[in-house]
Amino acid sequence: SAPERVQRNIEARRPLIEHSLSEHEALIQQAGAGELLRRTGWIKLHRSERTLAAGLADAERLRAYDLHIDTLDSAGVAALEPDLAPIMGGIHYRDTAAIIDPAALSKAYADLFVSRGGHLLSGDARSLSQEPDGRWRVETANGPLVAGAAVVTLGPWSDAIYGPLGYRIPLGWKRGYHMHYAAKDGAKLNHPILDADVGYLLAPMRRGVRLTSGAEFARRDAPPTPVQIEVCEPTARQLFPLAERLDPEPWRGARPCLPDMLPIVGPAPRHRGLWFDFGHAHHGLTLGPVSGRLLADMMTGEKPFIDPTPYRADRF
Ligand SMILES: Cc1cc2nc3c(=O)[nH]c(=O)nc-3n(C[C@H](O)[C@H](O)[C@H](O)COP(=O)(O)OP(=O)(O)OC[C@H]3O[C@@H](n4cnc5c(N)ncnc54)[C@H](O)[C@@H]3O)c2cc1C
Repeated sequence: SAPERVQRNIEARRPLIEHSLSEHEALIQQAGAGELLRRTGWIKLHRSERTLAAGLADAERLRAYDLHIDTLDSAGVAALEPDLAPIMGGIHYRDTAAIIDPAALSKAYADLFVSRGGHLLSGDARSLSQEPDGRWRVETANGPLVAGAAVVTLGPWSDAIYGPLGYRIPLGWKRGYHMHYAAKDGAKLNHPILDADVGYLLAPMRRGVRLTSGAEFARRDAPPTPVQIEVCEPTARQLFPLAERLDPEPWRGARPCLPDMLPIVGPAPRHRGLWFDFGHAHHGLTLGPVSGRLLADMMTGEKPFIDPTPYRADRF
């Protein structure tokens, strides 16, 4: 992409990213889930002088955004991560936080919602229809639910709703996998680490050390083909003393992506009372609370706390 377009894209995503952690922290505090958040930052590792130099050049550009970034030589990496095999060097991005159990966090948020009077009901969203009076109806296991507003939050499956309503939105997906491992002999990983020259992530999670793959381009609902986990695992084992696998099969997900890698958050342009909130790409967990707040502001007629223009549905 042209540098000006990249810069415009950075500025468009910046408000979401800038508020993502504070919005999580507010909800985490209310949900009593503070033990799930770790503020360690993450480390990008490089295996050669050439790639480390390129990584450092990237880091220098990012300093313009007031980030706290430390450059690490081999000894610097070893000081932060004593159980890693020796490596050329790395970059410690210190401002980010990580969730050590995303499912537990989702459950804590769901419990908070219910404790405030919300109801969780199951049903097939494809049963959504509009009543003659304009309200929205969906069938649930507890019977039909009719409401003045409905929000489409089906991630990569959102086309099941907007497609039949006549919207042509270029939503794609990047599939990916992860697997958890025990650590050998009490070894400990202190930060999420990206083995940038190889292309996988190791992260300390409540369940164990998680190895996450890169992007897989395949049909959305095709059977799993976790070859990236198989390919990266031997390299990851040389870097960190992983022991046995802890999951029967790799977990598979699909990152819902729009061409500009920004989500759609806002009203469905041609259907009153219908709202869109999908396309969060690689950052759906990160951006959940911030895009939820933005959507809530719009739905309740409040002044949106950030400018929603870059995320409107009719930008394509
Ligand atoms: C390997 C991997 C690693 C990732 N790591 C991170 C990370 O570190 N940080 C981060 O922020 N993000 C990460 N992501 C991205 C994140 O998972 C997505 O952005 C996020 O899941 C999108 O959230 P969503 O709620 O929009 O969609 P989803 O999480 O996909 O949820 C959509 C839901 O809709 C349901 N659904 C589908 N059809 C219907 C229907 N007809 N009726 C009812 N329900 C239906 C599905 O079952 C699903 O539960 C990762 C993704 C992958 C694949």
